[in-house]
Amino acid sequence: MKNLSFEFFPPKKPEGVKNLEQTAKTLAAFSPDFFSVTYGAGGSTRQGTLEAVMMIKEKIGIAAVPHLACVGSSRSEILDVILNYKELGLNRIVVLRGDLPSGMGQSGEFRYAIELVDLIRETTGDYFHIEVAAYPECHPQALSSFDDAFYLKKKMEAGANSALTQYFYNADAYFYFLDKCAKLGITIPIVPGIMPITHFEKLVRFSKLCGAEIPRWLYKRLEAYGEDQQSIKALGLEVVSDLCSRLIAGGAPGLHFYTLNQAEASIGLLNKLGIYQKVTAG
Ligand code: FAD
Repeated sequence: MKNLSFEFFPPKKPEGVKNLEQTAKTLAAFSPDFFSVTYGAGGSTRQGTLEAVMMIKEKIGIAAVPHLACVGSSRSEILDVILNYKELGLNRIVVLRGDLPSGMGQSGEFRYAIELVDLIRETTGDYFHIEVAAYPECHPQALSSFDDAFYLKKKMEAGANSALTQYFYNADAYFYFLDKCAKLGITIPIVPGIMPITHFEKLVRFSKLCGAEIPRWLYKRLEAYGEDQQSIKALGLEVVSDLCSRLIAGGAPGLHFYTLNQAEASIGLLNKLGIYQKVTAG
């Protein structure tokens, strides 16, 4: 069976916490390998990430994986978080540099994710399974696409066990990236990140920030639907399930879903894909 994981963000309000619990319970029926929870760079969600992860661990019974973003924090703050995760029995972690809100400059003691991989291996040995980020369409600050693969290799050499990618809608970008990584001697699994399409404006805004390309034909078709959310969702289901099928058929080791704390779109995609157990929306 291919790997399967779902990503959540830490909710801020009590209704959000309830919703996340329901979403996680529903998606647990797929028996995923893990649920991960994002972490705000600079420590802005330190408590929220921990609470969400512990809720998943204690109430849902699926491996709960915190993200940890190092930029904007001191070494001792980050070390506290790592040691706390270890004490709580969390043994997998998604290690990132993170992005600080514009205007905050590059404060803190970390510049790149690899420095956090180093710190985790230096202080906790092989205890954690470390996931890192990868960018088939090129990270916005990478000097070249060669840079991205080069620094992914550095993260692997520092001790990363696997990678999760930024989302993309062009399967070829992923396959070319895998080829480049293989040529460089990168041997860790690189699991594609999947962003379901449910809302046009939000997707456009988010994609600009993270450097994900919406192909022109897809952009134009989604844009033409205007406020017709039903049609946007229907096209999203068709396009993204086709992408998932191509990725799996082409040898992707699994799928990592960006859920935005909603279950419905991921369920639709996975049921259409048909390689995991079928699940009904909760
Ligand atoms: P790095 O690996 O450090 O790379 C950042 C850039 O620097 C790249 O352009 C790389 O090519 C370059 N680079 C790396 N090392 C060097 C070096 N030694 N010298 C020169 N250049 C170098 N953000 C959050 O804040 N919280 C989250 O929870 C979060 N979760 C994410 C989950 C996934 C699966 C992904 C794909 C991204 C996530 N992000 C998250 C976003 C991520 O933090 C940003 O994309 C960030 O800009 C880069 O993080 P990174 O870990 O890839 O950084």
